[in-house]
Amino acid sequence: MRHALTNVRNPAIPPMGMEEALAQFGPSPGAQAMMTAEREAAEEAIRTGIYGVWRYTGPQPEKGHDFCSRIGPQSRCFCGHTWSDHHQRPTDRMRPDTTCQHCSCVGFYFVPTRPEEIGEYWLPRRPEFNVATWRAKCRCGHDHMAHDPSRHDRPCRQCRCCQWDPHYCCVVCNQMGKDHESVWETTAERQAQGYPVGPEFIPLAEAPQIGALSTSRLSGTRGAARTTTAPLLGLKMSVDIPRTAMIRNVVTVDMTLRWDPPSRGGDEIDIPLR
Ligand SMILES: [Zn+2]
Ligand SMILES: [Zn+2]
Ligand SMILES: [Zn+2]
Ligand SMILES: [Zn+2]
Repeated sequence: MRHALTNVRNPAIPPMGMEEALAQFGPSPGAQAMMTAEREAAEEAIRTGIYGVWRYTGPQPEKGHDFCSRIGPQSRCFCGHTWSDHHQRPTDRMRPDTTCQHCSCVGFYFVPTRPEEIGEYWLPRRPEFNVATWRAKCRCGHDHMAHDPSRHDRPCRQCRCCQWDPHYCCVVCNQMGKDHESVWETTAERQAQGYPVGPEFIPLAEAPQIGALSTSRLSGTRGAARTTTAPLLGLKMSVDIPRTAMIRNVVTVDMTLRWDPPSRGGDEIDIPLR
């Protein structure tokens, strides 16, 4: 959705590569937060040899599709606590355990942490939006915090909904949230399935420069952009990185340059790729 401010669809921004744009404008706050979380998850998986992923396990699997999100220290569980708050013995043969250390949660159950993960890119651009209080919702209208994490059917505590039914679509595979599972695999188990392990599991492994720039703190109007975007001077600009690029390692994607006027939630514009 475009606001009136972007009626000028194509201001004087020359075509540029993603690396160049990131170096000039820096990542958007959402892209930076998601890339940092994905990178931390990958580093922990490599360190421990246990790879946690949120994966589509529904009736229409896409050949070779690995996962839709990495599960890492910052990943949020249905109970509201992070993966680092849970017992981390998911691949223990005798006594697997992913229960929460702080509540009666029956086991780690992945829920999205940011609206971008379920394709709701416009939400963080609203001035009143607060990502710290945002929670994914059930079809009953209440968020996961209103549901009971101590029962496997996860019923709602605020209405008659008797089973959590995630009311969102995954932005990576376009399938419903309920058709996904939290899965943990050892290095050997992933290798046997032909899935990436080690350094190849790091987001944007094939484009390390872009990966590094995506988590750097650099942001704002910089360099050549100042001269080529005169009408936009004074606006904070940044680059959105599609979630699919972080997960599927595809970097030849359209990128979006967004800016944040002080008085409103921000806006976006497409940059032509060179
Ligand atoms: Zn939990
Ligand atoms: Zn908990
Ligand atoms: Zn519900
Ligand atoms: Zn998915």
